[in-house]
Amino acid sequence: MKSLHAQHHLLADTCRQLEVLDQLVPDRIPAFQDKLRDHGQWPLRATGIEILQINVGKMCNQTCKHCHVDAGPDRREVMTRETMQYCVDVVKAHHIPIVDITGGAPEMNPHFRWLVEALSPLGVHLMVRCNLTIILANKRYHDLPEFYKTHRMEVIASLPFYAADRTDRQRGEGVFAHSIEALRMLNEVGYGYPDTGLQLHLVYNPAGAFLPPSQAQLQQEYQQVLWERYGIRFNQLFVITNMPISRYLEYLLATGNYETYMQKLVQAFNPAAISGLMCRNTLSVSWDGYLYDCDFNQMLDIPVQPEERRHIHQFRADLLSHRAIRVHQHCYGCTAGAGSSCGGQIVSEA
Ligand code: SF4
Ligand code: SF4
Repeated sequence: MKSLHAQHHLLADTCRQLEVLDQLVPDRIPAFQDKLRDHGQWPLRATGIEILQINVGKMCNQTCKHCHVDAGPDRREVMTRETMQYCVDVVKAHHIPIVDITGGAPEMNPHFRWLVEALSPLGVHLMVRCNLTIILANKRYHDLPEFYKTHRMEVIASLPFYAADRTDRQRGEGVFAHSIEALRMLNEVGYGYPDTGLQLHLVYNPAGAFLPPSQAQLQQEYQQVLWERYGIRFNQLFVITNMPISRYLEYLLATGNYETYMQKLVQAFNPAAISGLMCRNTLSVSWDGYLYDCDFNQMLDIPVQPEERRHIHQFRADLLSHRAIRVHQHCYGCTAGAGSSCGGQIVSEA
């Protein structure tokens, strides 16, 4: 499968995606901004910058059906060492405590290890969003579990389901078997055990046009099945709602599910999720160094405010820490049900 970008698909154009998202407003779907206003939360403001989420590129060894990055082997955009240096300088100068490295498959960026080694001595908490199969994709990645361990990185690994058929349907033939093998390698160096401090979290996202189930309940199922069938341990499961953008938007439109999915998100709007929206304490950096409120806004090319100083080398904590966040219709994906963020559900279950 090719990325939308390589197919020259209409939806590879972010303006087209925003047009589609606007089509249902206001007759059938209220504007997200109005929804926030109704709940006294407009404008939505950042509360600070606790996490710098660095997207080091769109290159990936997989081409998953629902990818919000439109990543794949045919993408060539990767962050340069120079841009990484700007990120390191900002983290150091502004004492940002957490750095979350994402992609694509971030490990495919030739400077990935350089970035980690530059950040590690600063004492920041490092997270990596790993697709698991990259560990087995080539001999040069086989030592990644040891590398993550050396830098005490928290590993957040995608595994859309605990059975092969559903995972492979979404991510490609053979992905589940390789993911299990990679999880074993992570377990072997100590990841996923409660007493090692080496955090290994899995990420579930729905295979179709529905909202995720209860995180706590699904975590129990994952833990039981993965342990009993494969002897795999992990710490927590994060359930994440699919955002109606990029390849998932294409899927919704192609299957005639777009409008009903948007209505489901709106009906499940949960005002309790607003205070925990990840854009409030996170700033996202793209492969070319531009700043966004979150990885989703980045993929829709919705720039952070103020727009005139939106590159990492122009970073100004005073302007960005309490900025007004740019919201759009896709934001309903973050406030549906128990809420959704890169760290899973926002609102705890009773
Ligand atoms: S592994 Fe992640 S980044 Fe790569 S195609 Fe799949 S969802 Fe996208
Ligand atoms: S998509 Fe979610 S995280 Fe991003 S700006 Fe909207 S509400 Fe915030």
